Amino acid sequence: MALIVQKYGGTSVGSPERIRNVARRVARYKALGHQVVVVVSAMSGETNRLIGLAKEIMPEPDPRELDQMVSTGEQVTIALTAMALMDLGVRAKSYTGAQVRILTDDAHTKARILSIDEANIRADLDAGYVVVVAGFQGVDENGNITTLGRGGSDTTGVALAAALKADECQIYTDVDGVYTTDPRVVPEARRLKSITFEEMLELASQGSKVLQIRSVEFAGKYKVKLRVLSSFEEEGDGTLITFEEEDNMEQPIISGIAFNRDEAKITVLGVPDRPGIAYQILGPIADANVDVDMIIQNVGADGTTDFTFTVHKNELNKAMGILKEVQAHIGAREIIGDDKIAKVAIVGVGMKSHVGIASQMFRTLAEEGINIQMISTSEIKISVVVDEKYLELAVRVLHKAFGLENA
Ligand code: ADP
Ligand code: ASP
Ligand code: MG
Repeated sequence: MALIVQKYGGTSVGSPERIRNVARRVARYKALGHQVVVVVSAMSGETNRLIGLAKEIMPEPDPRELDQMVSTGEQVTIALTAMALMDLGVRAKSYTGAQVRILTDDAHTKARILSIDEANIRADLDAGYVVVVAGFQGVDENGNITTLGRGGSDTTGVALAAALKADECQIYTDVDGVYTTDPRVVPEARRLKSITFEEMLELASQGSKVLQIRSVEFAGKYKVKLRVLSSFEEEGDGTLITFEEEDNMEQPIISGIAFNRDEAKITVLGVPDRPGIAYQILGPIADANVDVDMIIQNVGADGTTDFTFTVHKNELNKAMGILKEVQAHIGAREIIGDDKIAKVAIVGVGMKSHVGIASQMFRTLAEEGINIQMISTSEIKISVVVDEKYLELAVRVLHKAFGLENA
């Protein structure tokens, strides 16, 4: 007997028939003698619909009220899933994040899980129930409902698996595993049988939304056995996230390509080139809890320099507002926001032991006339910012250049 956490995404619970399909799979695992915890997302499109409604009332919705509202999407699917299980004769009980007590910090719309009170779930499992938990949500210490950021149900699933010391966490979605890149953009993309945790972390952080980054972080921290699978196929091993260091000789140099359309670029022009300037620009941004991703500061000339960084598109206005307030104090000439950018990253542990990967990437983009606006690297990743209109072309040519379709 194993304890398995199964997480089903929005498309997988997108209609009553699909919810029945989920219930049938859960019932099969239960019939094999396993204990099953099910985590579900809202029905596909529902979270977007709710956010749209909020924006009709308040263009920049109050974060607490937004969480209060969007969390209802998952509350609907947990109850429907429990009902579908009961209809199959399987005993089931559903819980919201607050009912479980998935305690988070109070950073509304992007809260972090602090702890999970798993005792009730365990008692229900021992009593023979399937426990269905709402993904994407928690509660702060004052009882306010919080949400974990878009795609956050993955994190609920993995965090529950960690808290319950589950034997496996299965992420069921609308593709049958992790691919060399998003198969919707590159039809030639291939499913990977396995991928190292390190690479999955980079792919997720660079925008592959097949797994939310925090779910991968949890899996790494608590060594959760994590597998991505299709909810539409009866069979298949999906993709396993592995923790062993693979033999690099056998590994392809590049394992996958990620991209992200969600970032915007801010350039602060003509700032005095003196100690403390980066802090003066990014300090107020961090104080407002705005995440900054890539950062570039040019070498100064004539005593001034330019400073460029990226933030989530949703936070561009907020960040611009903050900078306009401190502009005079910093002594910056001009501040420019650009949300027509996209980020593309190639990822692979094989990069550690190979040279010339960056130049191959830059040459491939140059041959297509794609201008690179920013570059950032880590030991296993090279990421560039380009004009958003070239994004798909960039992903396709890089996928081909690194031989990913037939590796
Ligand atoms: P869910 O609603 O099940 O959480 P998501 O839409 O969040 O599903 O994530 C699955 C989607 O991730 C796929 O439909 C695919 O378009 C996209 N995706 C992006 N990169 C990859 C990749 N490398 N491998 C597989 N899917 C990817
Ligand atoms: N329903 C939430 C979203 O659309 C959470 C999730 O699906 O993981 O982002
Ligand atoms: Mg998702």
